[in-house]
Amino acid sequence: MAATEVAQSRRVVTEIPGPKSRAIQERRRSAVAQGVGSVLPVYVERAGGGIVEDVDGNALIDFGSGIAVTNVGNADPRVVERASEQLGRFTHTCFMVNPYEAYVEVCEALNRITPGDHEKRSILLNSGAEAVENAVKIARNATGRQAVVVFDHAYHGRTNLTMALTAKNMPYKQGFGPFAGEIHRMPMAYAYRWPTGPDNCGPEAADMVIDQITKQIGAENVAAVVIEPIQGEGGFIEPAPGFLPAIVDFCRANGIVFVADEVQTGFARTGHMFACEHEGIVPDLIATAKGIAAGLPLAAVTGRAELMDAVHGGGLGGTYGGNPAACAAALASLSAIESDGLVERAREIGELMLGRLRDMAGKYDVIGDVRGRGAMIAVELVKDADRTPDPESLAKVMSFCHSRGLVLLSAGTYGNVIRMLPPLVIGDDLLNEGLDLLEEAFSLL
Ligand SMILES: *Cc1c(COP(=O)(O)O)cnc(C)c1O
Repeated sequence: MAATEVAQSRRVVTEIPGPKSRAIQERRRSAVAQGVGSVLPVYVERAGGGIVEDVDGNALIDFGSGIAVTNVGNADPRVVERASEQLGRFTHTCFMVNPYEAYVEVCEALNRITPGDHEKRSILLNSGAEAVENAVKIARNATGRQAVVVFDHAYHGRTNLTMALTAKNMPYKQGFGPFAGEIHRMPMAYAYRWPTGPDNCGPEAADMVIDQITKQIGAENVAAVVIEPIQGEGGFIEPAPGFLPAIVDFCRANGIVFVADEVQTGFARTGHMFACEHEGIVPDLIATAKGIAAGLPLAAVTGRAELMDAVHGGGLGGTYGGNPAACAAALASLSAIESDGLVERAREIGELMLGRLRDMAGKYDVIGDVRGRGAMIAVELVKDADRTPDPESLAKVMSFCHSRGLVLLSAGTYGNVIRMLPPLVIGDDLLNEGLDLLEEAFSLL
């Protein structure tokens, strides 16, 4: 079964959203709970490469990848074929009832490609939030400690525990409490907004965190430090140089489990297979999801064998975790990442985007910061030299780009960051065309 070929060019033939999308959106209002939002409510017909086609016949340039999920592109024929073959044999048995080889194979692959050459084990789950929750369960169980340290601007999911780990109130937490206890929030090494300047940020922030952990919690009570090696929803904040290594050293010295939440940054997205590799960090546990299986629901925790195996039999699991079709998709997707050189491709995408966006930053004062790695790039919009966030300009830029057929996402604690996450298989022509649209939007502000 071949995936439908999607022509790799932008095409805008109606208003966006078009009449068919608007009609479905109308039905949606009386069928779907309104708490679920959509960035750009064009209803999708097919997608592939760097293009998303809607039900009105528009073809949009994809700078979102369904939030860093379709790293290998949508409906890659190898993924479709392998998952379909699996669906034809059996759809589910539950790994906890009658296991199957694909689950074991995905765990072997994760143990091989994640940072560090120590003995590892993995567990498969359904979502990023579930992976982060399980990492916390494992760290608590293995250490016999309870406290968990997280950071300003962090995002870890929408379940009760992961809401507590997440920093931003609106929209993620408002009205959803009470939240889980023993969660302690620390400052983040956010170079662009660090009071004494970017050069001091990494070491100063690390000192503050270590001082607060020691004085306020007691290092011996901390089970885990949980951190995104580049913060995603928080605004693509790269921890200032030196911050992560200092935190890892502190964790090692105090028996604290260092958990990397690589749910958004994983699987070649940042120009390494995992973002921890940029600073040579080896996490004790790593939570993955989004880019793992090209969109079929799958997530994982991978980590040191002695931590993972500390949990009693039956203590971990879930009905659907490691669904066989999702495992098949993951195996095809991981092999596509490796055989198609997508780690290198992510770096090329990053160079192209950073180059063009830095040029734009020279021309348009609204661009306060350009940052990111690989195909995970952001611009932060500000009003003046004081770096006052400018969410109003962001709204104008987003709406212009959407109307011209560019799928673009926002992020950031202050709602003023445009984030770009193109599929790693997008062509340079579409990348440049998307950036042209973005530049036009800036010139019109
Ligand atoms: C998206 C995300 C999550 C949550 O993943 P879900 O699959 O939506 O539950 C957790 N952590 C990070 C860093 C994410 O980007």
